[in-house]
Amino acid sequence: MTTRNPFADRELHTPTLTSVQAAELAARLFGITVRVRPLGSHQDQNFLLDDGRERFVLKIANAAFSRAELEMQNAVMRHLARAGLPFSVPVPRAARDGNDVAEAELDGQRYRVRLLTYLEGETFGDVRYFAPIVVRELGALAGHTAAALASFDHPGADRVLPWDLRHARAAVDAFAPRVTDDRRRRLACEVIDSAERALAPRLPALRVQVIHGDVTDVNVVATRDRAGRLRPRGLIDLGDATRSWLVAEPAILCSSFLHHDPARAVQLAASVVGAFHRVMPLGEHELAALWPCVAARAASCAVATEQQAAVEPGNPYVSAARHSDWAILEAVAPVPFALAHAAVRAACGLAPAPRVAVPRTMALVEHGDAIEVDLSTTAAFSPGAWEHAAGVARHLAQVPGTAIGRYGEPRLPSARPHTRSEPASVHLGRDVFVPAGTEIRAPWDGEIVAARDGELVLRSAEFDLRLAGIEPRARGAIAAGDVIAVVAAPAGDARLPAHLHVQLCVEQLGALPGLAPASLAPAWLALCPDPAPLLGLAATPVDPVDALALRGRHVASPQILYYEQPPQIERGFRHYLYDTSGRAYIDMVNNVAILGHSHPAVDAAASRQLRLLNTNSRFLYGAMPRFAERLAALAPDGLDVVFLVSSGSEANDLALRLIRHATARHDVVCIAGGYHGWTQATDEVSTSPSEHPGAAATRPPWIHTLEAPSAYRGRFRGREVGRHVAAATEHIRGLAARGVRIAGLICEPLLGNAGGVALPADYLREVYAAVREAGGLCIADEIQVGYARLGEAFWAFELQGVIPDVVTIGKATGNGHPVAAVITRRGIADAFGRDAPWFSSVGGGPVSCEIGLAVLETLRDERLQDNARVVGAHLRRRLEPLTERFSLCGAVHGLGLYLGLELVRDRQTWEPATEEAYALCERMRELGVIVQPTGEFDNVLKIKPPLCFTLDSADFFVDTLAYVLETGW
Ligand code: PMP
Repeated sequence: MTTRNPFADRELHTPTLTSVQAAELAARLFGITVRVRPLGSHQDQNFLLDDGRERFVLKIANAAFSRAELEMQNAVMRHLARAGLPFSVPVPRAARDGNDVAEAELDGQRYRVRLLTYLEGETFGDVRYFAPIVVRELGALAGHTAAALASFDHPGADRVLPWDLRHARAAVDAFAPRVTDDRRRRLACEVIDSAERALAPRLPALRVQVIHGDVTDVNVVATRDRAGRLRPRGLIDLGDATRSWLVAEPAILCSSFLHHDPARAVQLAASVVGAFHRVMPLGEHELAALWPCVAARAASCAVATEQQAAVEPGNPYVSAARHSDWAILEAVAPVPFALAHAAVRAACGLAPAPRVAVPRTMALVEHGDAIEVDLSTTAAFSPGAWEHAAGVARHLAQVPGTAIGRYGEPRLPSARPHTRSEPASVHLGRDVFVPAGTEIRAPWDGEIVAARDGELVLRSAEFDLRLAGIEPRARGAIAAGDVIAVVAAPAGDARLPAHLHVQLCVEQLGALPGLAPASLAPAWLALCPDPAPLLGLAATPVDPVDALALRGRHVASPQILYYEQPPQIERGFRHYLYDTSGRAYIDMVNNVAILGHSHPAVDAAASRQLRLLNTNSRFLYGAMPRFAERLAALAPDGLDVVFLVSSGSEANDLALRLIRHATARHDVVCIAGGYHGWTQATDEVSTSPSEHPGAAATRPPWIHTLEAPSAYRGRFRGREVGRHVAAATEHIRGLAARGVRIAGLICEPLLGNAGGVALPADYLREVYAAVREAGGLCIADEIQVGYARLGEAFWAFELQGVIPDVVTIGKATGNGHPVAAVITRRGIADAFGRDAPWFSSVGGGPVSCEIGLAVLETLRDERLQDNARVVGAHLRRRLEPLTERFSLCGAVHGLGLYLGLELVRDRQTWEPATEEAYALCERMRELGVIVQPTGEFDNVLKIKPPLCFTLDSADFFVDTLAYVLETGW
């Protein structure tokens, strides 16, 4: 006997009342006088009502639904509203007759009508990027909903809906004939077939309860947080509430938004389920059923929408859903269930499902002494060697035996700068570096189920064995010991030389990737065990060090880190950084590594000197005077003696002591919002609120702060900016008039800490004159903005046409090695030494000075100042149009390769977009760019890459930034 398909003749016609009729019903049934706006809907008809004080949703039920079903939905809302959930739900308002479900006749038709409170907010329907926190919150919201409903029941919950995943097969059978596109119809049928097969053995273990049944991107109501991101705040639309599988609740949510980022469908779903599971734990079988449910939902939604579109060709809500529903199915269909299952388990913190152990067999290939070769981010590659085949070959040639690639290792040669997507970097098998032509023998009896150029799959009962980098030599049934392939010569743009890639899989998945992105690696590694025993080797566990946890235990907490989830950066080369997952980033913030990371000239200078001598600076050695001579030669005439120290803070601290000593005065003038270091004295002159909240209010009485003369944010803006010059000189003269005797001034000649804000023309000329007139001396802090970075000049003070009395340098001076200096006039230095001798043990040590010399030589030889000018100008030209395209982009500051993009919420009030800046930087990191906010309000993207920065990278940076500004963070 065949049972009739419950959806065979289902044709839901959404009621078609007019707004006038809706207003009339609201008045008649609920006693409210309202303004009415129609809302979209799939099956009921909805109107937004506004009575001047409050907003409501008037729901005209589809005639197909019984009164009990509507009462059940109302009861669910009341239940959820009482459950103390961390989000809101609408609640029904009783009609004048006391009923929650009112009934009315219009034009001879009977309607069931409900009035619900309206949740203010937006939905996620148009969101193009879901930040990790948002994905987790969505998962948790579904978890709370299901957990609250576990204790709910109602006779109206026994309904037969095509959206109930228990009936997904019937829904597809009923609606698929409506799909006119053959390929799409076949896809939906194949997907439901495999979902049904995967679910069958799990059915008895799937818990059944009342669920919301439609927790989706369009039914979660959200409000914007400070960063402008939509965050879940409420849940609407109880129309699909029904008794169903509990696991359907997260599955429906997952499938609802996968089309927004199909390439990361599994990661998104795993993250949703992980968050759901932490609130409402799922059982082993439920976790296994999750992705089949996602697939069943995707297939049934796609065909059901097609059917609804046929019934209601004019319903705009339905035609919009059609596009996304098919996109979801296309995203879901290619994902192997086993992979999604493993990813879901990993996201829930569960160990991989137990699998058969890999047996030791005869060796696949003859190899001599097998030595594991490190190809990770921290491997002993010479700088940049991983970028090309010859460099990798040189690295491998150092292995004293047959190199065997590690299992589960994120590989550096897979990293590619200038790519927005996460690279497939984690190796899922073993590589055996043997010459092309080497024979490979079957380790066990089996059948070759796939053989094409470059790879084959040998299947046995337990494993698929995938060999790649080979030429197949056999087909069909195979006996252990048969020659099945030979190692091939490398093809294409391969960075690795000839090798055999050996990989096992405990599932029969057909196509297998050899490498996986780090975010999916735990899942893939659970399916692809270490094939070491096939090579006569012992399997090695994958054991990443959790540097963040270790840091939390032993590094003092005030030492801050970039990023919410900091990548573990262990390598740099030129203006690129590499993390331990094999991800490459362009480095927009590293003014410390002025030449670029791992510069061979620095390496050579340091290594040579480390092998000769490194000692304290009270010995006589040649490097210190040679370095001092070079620095003095770069400084203006008269500034011809140098103190060598180890950090910018020390340099400024010493500079302050010098001017105080030379003038026998203590008071110092600085500019608001500056940062000059962390020592007691430099902290006193640092008023940057981002480094030191509350700084401005806690300055000691001997510190005098000039207002920041910013043309953008200062008291005098735009063309008026010049008025800051007089304001500053008046301030200084006012101090003198009050009898304040100043030792001098410390400031950056371009306000680096404010995000690269240029000083008004003549500012320093006038201010230095006023300081000197008052008997003070002038310190130029060139630690960030000097040393060739501005392109137009080596020193930032040159652009203001002034000569300071004291110049401090740091950061770039040693390309990241701790070396800094104070350059000053002989008289000032001598006065300081008159009372006491001075030394800094490691400041100016032989290694530091040799590095300092190498940095200066390389700056000159590689013409990096010119590069800063040319690439900086290009970057600025590309950034400027963003201020017209995006209202968030307020202004571009700076010069050369010290630029700042200031982000504002409002272009009239300049309200700083601080949270937006941080969130945007998080997304930029996901897309391969390291950039961070700076400035008084942490709302300026600081753009100060190594000076070897290229035009290509400038374009990648700006294009990626524009992409984020467009698609969200
Ligand atoms: N001066 C300026 C302008 C700086 O930006 C900094 C560091 N950000 C310092 C001084 C202090 O340098 P360090 O961190 O090397 O002590």
